[in-house]
Amino acid sequence: MPNKRILITGAAGFLGSHLSDRFINEGYDVVGMDNLITGDMKNIEHLMKLKEFEFYNHDVSKYVHVSGHIDYILHFASPASPIDYLKIPIQTLKVGSLGTHNLLGFAMEKKARILVASTSEVYGDPAIHPQNEDYWGNVNPVGPRGVYDEAKRFQEAITMAYHTYHGLETRIVRIFNTYGPRMRLNDGRVLPAFIGQALRGEDLTIFGDGSQTRSFCFQSDLIEGIYRLLMSDYPYPVNIGNPSEITINQFAEEIIKLTGTSQKLIHKPLPQDDPKQRKPDITRAKEILGWEPKVDRAEGLKITYDYFKGLSPEELNKTAHRFD
Ligand code: UDP
Repeated sequence: MPNKRILITGAAGFLGSHLSDRFINEGYDVVGMDNLITGDMKNIEHLMKLKEFEFYNHDVSKYVHVSGHIDYILHFASPASPIDYLKIPIQTLKVGSLGTHNLLGFAMEKKARILVASTSEVYGDPAIHPQNEDYWGNVNPVGPRGVYDEAKRFQEAITMAYHTYHGLETRIVRIFNTYGPRMRLNDGRVLPAFIGQALRGEDLTIFGDGSQTRSFCFQSDLIEGIYRLLMSDYPYPVNIGNPSEITINQFAEEIIKLTGTSQKLIHKPLPQDDPKQRKPDITRAKEILGWEPKVDRAEGLKITYDYFKGLSPEELNKTAHRFD
């Protein structure tokens, strides 16, 4: 019997590379696909020498073809930080919409099960707290985040349509803020921003008054949740995230303590449509997948800090965004 074979799009990205590791460890053959617009080959360098791993440099918003059998597909290709959406809005829209359409067609062709990466951004700036899967969201379609939020909402709709009309086996994960090694230092997200600033001896930039909240999940917990969802028979959206909620001010204090930096906190304007509060209700994941996060923030932040500390000075100083 040949190994089970899985296609992972966005394989050179933060989550895609960790998923590739996980499925290699589970004994799968992994086909990684990425156009490297936000991904980085160094995240999968260690996999390139394995015969169980192959890589295609391809943009999935164009027709997708891979020869041979494919049992599973994980669609994780997408820019995923607010800075990215601002710099590459059209690609963000295309990969979530056209890319998802191509991969659903590809899944039909291969008779494969597909899991698509959705996001807590489908809830927009949420009017209910914490957010459960039955909440429909509060999204500004024409704001700066609309290109991501609406692409992901369309992605969910078309994925569900392929499930109901074509009987395709589909899964939808709504991912809340996740962190860990291999995050891009210059992706503008709050954790790499704060740790990068601390390591370079710069002040930490708090957007707005810092009272907005987020709930941060360590990557290994998220990967476990995705693995369980893929193996389940549940076609509706499932939140995966860590419900431990903090304000951005508290988060900055934790980073200061962790890094020992003596830099100050400075305030910058709050970006438009920045959600005021975000915390997953994970009742559904607990009930259906028997899943809940295991890594607390102190432990996860230490692992992540050690990773960023190990980067070369050139990488650390690459503050300019790569689309500048
Ligand atoms: N943020 C901040 N300083 C930064 C980067 C982000 O205060 O240097 C804030 C941002 O305004 C948001 C939160 O941190 O309220 C999380 O931002 P991130 O971009 O990481 O992800 P989001 O959850 O907004 O998609």
